[in-house]
Amino acid sequence: MQQFNTIIGNDIQAAKALLQKGEVVGIPTETVYGLAGNALNGDAALKIFSVKNRPYFDPLIVHTHSISEIEKYVAEIPDKARLLMQHFMPGALTLLLKKKDLIPDIITSGLDTVAIRIPAHPLTLQLLKELPFPLAAPSANPFGYISPTIAAHVYDQLKGKIPYILDGGATTVGVESTIVGFEGDDVVIYRLGGLTIEEIERVAGKVKVNINAASNPKTPGMLKSHYAPAVPLVFGEPELLEAAKAANKAIGTICFDTAITGLNSRTKQILLSPNGDLNEAAKNLFAAMRNLDTSGLDIIYAVRFPDEGLGRAINDRLKRASVK
Ligand code: AMP
Ligand code: MG
Repeated sequence: MQQFNTIIGNDIQAAKALLQKGEVVGIPTETVYGLAGNALNGDAALKIFSVKNRPYFDPLIVHTHSISEIEKYVAEIPDKARLLMQHFMPGALTLLLKKKDLIPDIITSGLDTVAIRIPAHPLTLQLLKELPFPLAAPSANPFGYISPTIAAHVYDQLKGKIPYILDGGATTVGVESTIVGFEGDDVVIYRLGGLTIEEIERVAGKVKVNINAASNPKTPGMLKSHYAPAVPLVFGEPELLEAAKAANKAIGTICFDTAITGLNSRTKQILLSPNGDLNEAAKNLFAAMRNLDTSGLDIIYAVRFPDEGLGRAINDRLKRASVK
């Protein structure tokens, strides 16, 4: 693979020039940092897969700057899709829509739908407006690892492999977009994410949720194990916490608003939101996982979050991080 002297900066023109040459660059979004390339260029897409070590069966999300742009790449827009677009774009909402031929098959892993969204980040929206093509962008981390929420996370893992990281500060949402598809009149959620089910239902009525998609050909990349730190992570099983305590392990904890009591002095505890705010907790989740993963601990213990709002996406990520 080609080696680069990776630069971190906020120069949209530098990112634009590289993307126009078919290179891939790190970009900020409101959800997590993306690894972006020209979505209409199969060779750029290949580079994304190779830098991430991502299997080709895991399709990429296409990023654009407006609803009229989306219309250029999709063959049809169901009424409820249009409603959701009007309410939540730009935002943490990805729609699965029938694709037009100009989206290469490598982007969609051969599926006839394309996953498409408008990111709510000023730098990246500006970049998309200046480019004559949309950007394919999965999260900017090696396949299976924790998603990056600051430019330095991208640098730590992909330095040398990409020429540029556009630094747009810390992401404000902190978990990936919610993926929504349509079956007849039904709205189906395929990935829990930064836009909550409650918000979607307020606009589109009752939705179906189909997130255990390891065997679901509709969303091939939704693997059971994902977002995983190298240190074993245990999620919401108190008896395993007790066992780790009894064995005098160095435990890292991921808590909501209250620390766990009765742990030894080698413990490192992170409260994702001392004020009990699920949005703040989601925003801090991945950085906390990275922090604990590099703190010389034996085990990470994560509590179960309230099963509402962004708590559902947090629990989903922790569950997948815990499966080995
Ligand atoms: P990521 O880019 O890492 O946030 O992951 C994108 C995820 O979106 C994939 O793992 C798939 O589960 C889903 N996805 C992307 N494109 C499609 C598509 N065309 N049809 C169904 N699911 C998709
Ligand atoms: Mg990812």
